[in-house]
Amino acid sequence: MTKRALISVSDKTGVSEFAKALIQNGFEIISTGGTSALLKKEGIEVKDVSDITGFPEMMDGRVKTLHPKVHGGLLYLRDNPDHMKQAEANGITAIDIVAVNLYPFRETVAKSDVTLEDAIENIDIGGPTLLRSAAKNFASVTVICDPADYAAVADELTKTGDISYDLKKKLAVKAFRHTADYDSAVDTYLSKAILGEKVKRLSYTGGEKLRYGENWHQEATYYKELTGTGPNLSNAKQLHGKELSYNNYIDMDNALLTLKDLNSKDPAVVIVKHNNPCGLATGKTLKEAFLAAWDGDPISAFGSIVCVNRPFDVETAKLLDKKFIEIIIAPAFEPEALEMLKNKSETLRLLELVGFDKPFDNEYVYKHVTGGLLEQTRDIGLFEKWDVVTKAQFPDSKKGLSEFAMSACKCIKSNSISIAYEYEPGCYMLLGMGAGQPNRVDSIGKLAAPKARNNLKEMYDRNEELQKAMTYEDYVKQVFSECVMASDAFFPFDDSVIYANEFGLRYILSPGGSIRDAEVIATADRLGVSLVFTGMRHFLH
Ligand code: 5GP
Repeated sequence: MTKRALISVSDKTGVSEFAKALIQNGFEIISTGGTSALLKKEGIEVKDVSDITGFPEMMDGRVKTLHPKVHGGLLYLRDNPDHMKQAEANGITAIDIVAVNLYPFRETVAKSDVTLEDAIENIDIGGPTLLRSAAKNFASVTVICDPADYAAVADELTKTGDISYDLKKKLAVKAFRHTADYDSAVDTYLSKAILGEKVKRLSYTGGEKLRYGENWHQEATYYKELTGTGPNLSNAKQLHGKELSYNNYIDMDNALLTLKDLNSKDPAVVIVKHNNPCGLATGKTLKEAFLAAWDGDPISAFGSIVCVNRPFDVETAKLLDKKFIEIIIAPAFEPEALEMLKNKSETLRLLELVGFDKPFDNEYVYKHVTGGLLEQTRDIGLFEKWDVVTKAQFPDSKKGLSEFAMSACKCIKSNSISIAYEYEPGCYMLLGMGAGQPNRVDSIGKLAAPKARNNLKEMYDRNEELQKAMTYEDYVKQVFSECVMASDAFFPFDDSVIYANEFGLRYILSPGGSIRDAEVIATADRLGVSLVFTGMRHFLH
């Protein structure tokens, strides 16, 4: 018996070629209005669905394929004698392939001027029904909801004269996932438009099993977001190295966010360890930025993730010779640099990630808590204001460095403190950072400032000219007096300013907003420290 394929598509990409391939493989094509007209125009022989159903397509296309002659032909069990008898008695013949893609509902409601009527007219009824009928009977029927799958189906048919069970079942699951996503888009839109209610359905695909979770005894899976054009870890192309782990994804995300936030026009490098940037710098070249970022914490940089905003070049690749890092993320790799890095290590993961310069696709971020999902918009922006609140002035020339310092703070876990240094005119580095402390003074006094001192010691020890020019203590004094220290949130007491001053830090940024702001300002004035309130808090938990 001649095999039959029903084709009814909104997105007509590749459909003519597919129909031709089906005909070459002995199929008869049945189609709906628009699709049929297109195929006929291409000289392809097509039977209209209305000829099968005995009903015209009606009500502006609301009813086209919703008929027992169609759905019976999809749903009857080919090895069930009763079904077969009933099919025959009712003039129902088998349909073996369904190729359908749906009215563009998501695209319609994404338009700023969409009306409710427009949205409703774009809810496809017959299409999902066709997909679901075909997918339910996947043992006998092949269902295609994505033009990207035409080739695989046509290929198998041409090579083997049939479609494998393996492909049929994969396509069936894909179709059910597709209609579920489609319905969730309808639900999300209508809940808001009609009921004023916000519902959240996250749409992820391709659950990829990871070797383990945060620790070896934990199971883990990576679900990919349906993506757009912005930077996105799921779009990253792995060019080399072993598979990515659960912790890798977390650190890669922090690296990406830090560089995106910094939004530097100059070459920039971030080095991430344990979900915190431990090194961050800009430079005139990528090599310079890399060296300065590394100087931000050479100890922690061991086993880190490096993310850069420029094509990874040979000069920078050479610097990695004796350094152990886990991952490099770059918008591109120069071919020679790529070869060097591949030869350096079997395991080093090299990822090409495009879209750095584009906005994120998703305006919201999520955190799962026991029993619920928290949603918030991204922490976009840096300062709400620029209020110099002390007698000591904060020179405008330090604005660039201040932006760098606060931008680093945004991506360091609270309570976060960053100490930033302009190591060369226009080039900034994170000289010290304090992360994740339950109080702010420890982030300054026990972490950021002592770490900055340590880093300066290494920088001093390898610079003979500097050693001739001044003592280490004078060097620290000079550098600290030029640095900007940023805090992600207000100072609840004046002790943070006191600690910072003891280390010789003179320029401090904080959002302000504490009930003790006046006390903090008075202490800064007494110490001659210069303080800016920025009005925008950047907690990151
Ligand atoms: P065409 O351009 O061929 O006229 O229409 C193709 C579209 O119609 C496809 O997106 C398909 O999902 C949809 N479709 C097929 N049958 C029906 C039906 O009975 N009712 C509705 N509302 N849409 C259908």
